[in-house]
Amino acid sequence: MLIKIALVGNPNSGKTTLFNGLTGSNQYVGNWPGVTVEKKEGQLKGNKNVVVVDLPGIYSLSPYTLEEVVSRDYLVDEKPNVILNIIDGTNLERNLFLTTQLIEIGIPVVAAVNMLDISDKRGDILNLEKLSQALRCKVVSISALKHIGIEKAANLAIKAAESPKKLTAPLFLGKIEPIISNIEQILNLDDFENKRFFAVKLFEKDSIITEKLQEKLNPQQLAQISQIITDCELKLDDDSESILTAERYNFIESVVRESLQVNKVDKLSDKIDKVVTNRWLALPIFVAIMFIVYATSVTGVGLLATEWMEDGVFGEGWSLFGLFIPGIPVVIENILVSVDTAEWLQSLILDGIIAGVGAVLAFVPQIFILFIFLAFLESCGYMARIAFILDRIFRKFGLSGKSFIPILIGTGCGVPGIMASRTIESDKDRKMTIITTTFIPCSAKLPIIALISGALFGGAWWVAPSAYFLGIAAIICSGIILKKTKLFSENITPFIMELPEYHLPTVESILRSMWERGWSFIKKAGTIILLASIIIWLTSSFGWQNGNFGMVYPEYSLLSYTGRAIAWVFIPLGWGNWQAAVSTITGLIAKENLVGTFGILFGFAEVAEDGTEIWAMLATHFTTLSAYSFLIFNLLCAPCFAAVGAIRREMNNARWLFFAIGYQTLFAYIVALCVYQIGSMFGGYFGVTSVVAIILTGIFLVLLFKKSNVKEVI
Ligand code: GDP
Ligand code: MG
Repeated sequence: MLIKIALVGNPNSGKTTLFNGLTGSNQYVGNWPGVTVEKKEGQLKGNKNVVVVDLPGIYSLSPYTLEEVVSRDYLVDEKPNVILNIIDGTNLERNLFLTTQLIEIGIPVVAAVNMLDISDKRGDILNLEKLSQALRCKVVSISALKHIGIEKAANLAIKAAESPKKLTAPLFLGKIEPIISNIEQILNLDDFENKRFFAVKLFEKDSIITEKLQEKLNPQQLAQISQIITDCELKLDDDSESILTAERYNFIESVVRESLQVNKVDKLSDKIDKVVTNRWLALPIFVAIMFIVYATSVTGVGLLATEWMEDGVFGEGWSLFGLFIPGIPVVIENILVSVDTAEWLQSLILDGIIAGVGAVLAFVPQIFILFIFLAFLESCGYMARIAFILDRIFRKFGLSGKSFIPILIGTGCGVPGIMASRTIESDKDRKMTIITTTFIPCSAKLPIIALISGALFGGAWWVAPSAYFLGIAAIICSGIILKKTKLFSENITPFIMELPEYHLPTVESILRSMWERGWSFIKKAGTIILLASIIIWLTSSFGWQNGNFGMVYPEYSLLSYTGRAIAWVFIPLGWGNWQAAVSTITGLIAKENLVGTFGILFGFAEVAEDGTEIWAMLATHFTTLSAYSFLIFNLLCAPCFAAVGAIRREMNNARWLFFAIGYQTLFAYIVALCVYQIGSMFGGYFGVTSVVAIILTGIFLVLLFKKSNVKEVI
């Protein structure tokens, strides 16, 4: 028999960590709610007959959020053989709320109380025996992170699946229990093995379940049930859902009182939070940390590593302990020459593939260093604080802090970032988050930032952090402006998020997370960037010159004509050269492709062989101001195709998709235009475009500061 174990629990309780531990796979672990948005399946290590399913985190089985619906539908419709309920042991009360609902579903439950390492350190004592009796299911203490007790948990789950037991005693006390059993009796249908679950849901007037049952029950039964509920509501003077919720919490309170002995010491996490989330210090600390992270990974250590990649590995060569190791292009060129390869093929390989793919791969060290920082901040618990801190600020502008979680995930890649917007209940907030998430620089945009900061700003320390804060500013401004339109105006939904305990992540988990995100970057270099490099080389090497088609200088190539045809659009932004225009377009395939295109069009490989500074070439095509405008446009405009695909999936509507892309691109264009034109005015230039820029800036400021005239919908 194939056994399916479903991992169910609150967000951030450790499901994915446990899933990875049990299956040996590499799912994404993050220390904030809403990281797992889709269910994932994997085989239990060492047992072919057992499948483990990681479900999105939920607080209850009521259908208020998409995750709740996904998880509940899975449990009710697909009926896994057993539920392994992960409970965050440091937050027992809140977690047990879900547990009380799970044991009603009719599927065997095993409860795994997680974070044993933390509660041990704190000195809390949990009586598993008592907890197990109260919950009427097996309970085991585990630490998913430290791999303590996880095999035992899996074995108990398998055992429970093999010999399922019915819920023996009622959970609700006194007044409510007879009412629920009454409804259960009315549901005298054979296909309800889990009558109790349906009875409870009917009693709560759960709309989805009620609708589902409408066909299966006859009008008489429905009337009877409805009568029971109304009677009860009248008697207890409350609505049925609140009655049940209160009942559950009563139960939980008594369970926890009986079984948990908390060691009352001032928690370290609380002490750290006093400083880190302090009203005045929180924001400066956040800014300082992000500055350090970006400045170190892009300029500091990261830059050294990238220079080594560019000048050494993908350049002439480098020395290791006095031993000279020639660069990849040199080695390959020697091989190609020695076997007498045709001229054009040499050019394709050296000027096309190696220049393009190499230019992208050269940024791998910077990206990996950034990911180490982000993985650390994320799994130690600081990122969750950032969402909390920013919520206070976002709220002032009518935005929800929940939007920030997708944005944080978007610092790695926009695609999961956009998907993470599913955790936002309000449809309008969700749409807005989808539209603005890709404003934040993802890992693929990092090479663009690094290239511009290195080539045109002499590696100035402020460029990379400024790109990050530009992204945040774009999100906040867009939020403020869009919220004032009818499309998005809405009351703010409250932001509820547990702040997880701080903990020191293991080196393994950080390296794993770094590798997981970094690997996809490398993989792209070997596939999509490789292909694009070949196409760009072809179109930039061939064209018409003197009426003949053939290999030509780039100025005469097919690509340059295409570039020139569109470059005029960008003249007001200060970079109307065809190479920049073409790169911007190729950046839509994948953002790092822009750097690869630069590599081919500006001939990085050749320049490097001459021994000249490879970036000097770039500097002749841009001023610092036009380069910054180029950076702004490319960071904020429509994202890569993969992210556009994600937007399409999440919006599920062509009009919204076009609105999103159109808005992003227009916004990027206007900001880049204003920055360039107004910047040029300081340099003494004034013309028609300056007037346009001033007017646009004026409109922007008015939109930003005018009072919202959209009536609040209450
Ligand atoms: P999910 O949202 O339920 O999938 O939770 P995750 O598996 O993503 O874990 C959330 C956070 O809790 C991560 O930072 C984990 O490293 C951390 N975590 C998970 N299990 C443990 C544990 O047993 N002990 C400690 N100290 N941390 C844990
Ligand atoms: Mg997860």
